[in-house]
Amino acid sequence: MKPRKVLVVDDSKLLHRMFEMMLRQYPLVHAYDGREGLDRLAENSDVDLILLDVNMPRMNGLEFLAAVKADARLAKIPVIVVTTEGADKDAEKALASGAAAYVKKPFRNEELLGAIERLTAAA
Ligand SMILES: [Mg+2]
Repeated sequence: MKPRKVLVVDDSKLLHRMFEMMLRQYPLVHAYDGREGLDRLAENSDVDLILLDVNMPRMNGLEFLAAVKADARLAKIPVIVVTTEGADKDAEKALASGAAAYVKKPFRNEELLGAIERLTAAA
């Protein structure tokens, strides 16, 4: 099953462009910090996958993840956390807080697509 809509939450415009190139087959919704991510989720009830950065202004990825998991309507949406190289603690924290998977920057196209396929096949 392919995701219907993927929410990308990342403060790097470059990452948004990369995701657009890597995920041509998926409709994307864009947010540049956690608060904006929550706004986009409120507007797009058909988002069924979230790609989440950790370090962002206003509301970071772990705070965003906690808010999503605390909301019964959003808690089931799988979240893939995109962590900075070397930030293994972030990945551990994200998994402990309910993230479904993580990829480390820099990641290859196949790594990301593989993680998405595993998650959406299991759904
Ligand atoms: Mg960032």
